[in-house]
Amino acid sequence: MSCSLQSLIAQDAAQLAGALALDGSTARIEVQCLLQHLLHVPRSYLLAHPERCLNADEYSQYQVLLQRRLRGEPVAYILGEREFFGLKLKVTPATLIPRPDTELLVELALQHLTNTAESRVLDMGTGTGAIALAIAHERPAVPVLGVDASAAALQVAQENAQVLGLTNAHFVQSNWFSALAGQGFELIVSNPPYIAAADEHLSQGDVRFEPATALASGADGLDDIRHIVSHAGDYLQPGGWLLLEHGYDQAGRVRTLLQQAGFDAVFSACDLAGIERVSGGQICS
Ligand code: GLN
Repeated sequence: MSCSLQSLIAQDAAQLAGALALDGSTARIEVQCLLQHLLHVPRSYLLAHPERCLNADEYSQYQVLLQRRLRGEPVAYILGEREFFGLKLKVTPATLIPRPDTELLVELALQHLTNTAESRVLDMGTGTGAIALAIAHERPAVPVLGVDASAAALQVAQENAQVLGLTNAHFVQSNWFSALAGQGFELIVSNPPYIAAADEHLSQGDVRFEPATALASGADGLDDIRHIVSHAGDYLQPGGWLLLEHGYDQAGRVRTLLQQAGFDAVFSACDLAGIERVSGGQICS
């Protein structure tokens, strides 16, 4: 068997594509990611040295990584990291893997935020801290609080804040609003679990390896969103906004929930695929 980077990329991408039903270019990028991780090199190195052979040690380590991916484990968990909004974040199986779709929520949050130390932001179900840290990075004067029910996830979020040097981001263990009595925020954001418990997607692809509590939320997927929408008004300052990511077919129902809870200026916004992915509203009274 040939050990050159070029031949490994070609043969293993084909194997991966077959095993996981990936398209060829995705499989190729994934094999390149594993090799970059193994060799601590940029992608350009792989392209510039196609004839470079792995030595015996490297080859056996590479096989471990490849076998994990062939069994379906997400690349982000194998590498232990994922980029989100330009920030490199540690991820573990205790956290949801940040998705590009969720960058929309960050962009909307930045648009709805004033840039002062009085404008506190709350990110609920923060996981890796991705949303909180992206906002904290873009608005260094704004204090951002991330909460999560999972102590293991909070540890990852805290580590990410520390590595990134984002001293305006803080993290507290809280089951939604349970530890937040008496606190007020200008903006509350969340990418809560929103998949219907019986959805067949939960048994396919990467999500099989992600924490179920970060994905599924009752029969229609809206249990946690209902909880957040019905209580957020108590924690928002007058004029404050609540912005929520939700499933591809939930925008109408989330807008109704927001309206029923007394939010004004209720809207939905589309992700890069043109799907209504985030809905929000403003508390005026
Ligand atoms: N967007 C994720 C998915 O569809 C789900 C994330 C979530 O439930 N918040 O896989």
